[in-house]
Amino acid sequence: MTGIVRKRDTGEKGNGGEFGTTKRGEANLQVTSDAGADDATGTALIERFGFDVRTADPVEFDEHAKSAGEELARARSRQRASVDALHRAIGDRKQAGGSWGKSDEEVVGAAHEWVTLADGGAASEATGHRLREPLRNVQADQEKLERSREQVDGLEAAFRVRGGWNRAFLVANANGHVHSSTSCSTCRPTTQYAWMTDYSGADENAIVSDAGYRACTTCYPTAPVGDERSLPTKMLTDEEKQDEVRRENERAARAAKKAKAAANAPTSTGEPLTVPDGMSRYPETLKTERTAKSWAVNGVLEEASFVAYREQFDDASTDFPGSTVNRSSRDVIVESLADKHGSDTDGIRDELRQKAHAKAKREYTDETVRARVVGQIDDLFRPSA
Ligand SMILES: [Zn+2]
Repeated sequence: MTGIVRKRDTGEKGNGGEFGTTKRGEANLQVTSDAGADDATGTALIERFGFDVRTADPVEFDEHAKSAGEELARARSRQRASVDALHRAIGDRKQAGGSWGKSDEEVVGAAHEWVTLADGGAASEATGHRLREPLRNVQADQEKLERSREQVDGLEAAFRVRGGWNRAFLVANANGHVHSSTSCSTCRPTTQYAWMTDYSGADENAIVSDAGYRACTTCYPTAPVGDERSLPTKMLTDEEKQDEVRRENERAARAAKKAKAAANAPTSTGEPLTVPDGMSRYPETLKTERTAKSWAVNGVLEEASFVAYREQFDDASTDFPGSTVNRSSRDVIVESLADKHGSDTDGIRDELRQKAHAKAKREYTDETVRARVVGQIDDLFRPSA
């Protein structure tokens, strides 16, 4: 069976174009459900639409239809811009309300007349020169607009001939609803839609279930009534998707920061290390390897200086307060670091001892004093028995 659909058959009036500069052709479209029936028709259709409108599945079909709709919107705004340019070229001015003094038709008609007169020498060539190009642009953009509209209308006709399928259009604002067409009675002519082509041809249950609270109950009579919490949606506007991406990036940044902290931590688990401090009532929380090593080295240096100084005097006590507590806390640090790196404790102890030596070298220029301090350092870094 071969079905021929023409605008006059559908009872629809062809749009003659705003100014009728080009007579609009019929949406002379031949669509059949039997793809092999007429190869010439098939080839012509593919040439016109860029894909086979008779056999494409609903998703593919609607992706083309969506692009055609977007192209139509672009053609419309380009045509508007060139008509505005012609208004300016002919000396028209905008009124208080923002509309032009003359109608588009008047301006195009007048420009046409002036150019014809100039061509025939009956008007100045300066006028012809000023208007010829803007008028040509208007005519070219008008033709492009009409071609775009024919593509959109042709695809709509093919959709009807094929019997149609379910579609989903999301109103592109916060809490916008999902509709089965762009002509839902609950929407305004100015409503902006995002065509959710992934759902083209899906059964109503699937659309209603993914749309959740957003399903329009006029378009989808089976849709239950609920809210964001009781009927969550899987259909998101571009803005909501961007928010989702931003939240995901923030989550990833937090996770990366946590991973970095864990990598720097003085423990194999990534947790901070808390050790008793011999000089304080409060324990010391060490979040990084670096702070754990400094805490150990500084404590040793402080104690070594204290003892090295006191031992010069026969009657002075060399008992450093908190010495035992700090020694066992150092052992905890050394063992934790060895555990983290899978190394032995001697290696870690050597490293800390060398750091303490280097610090003593920087702090004590007197060799005798430094030798005594270094002796104490070595003593303090011996593991507790
Ligand atoms: Zn609706």
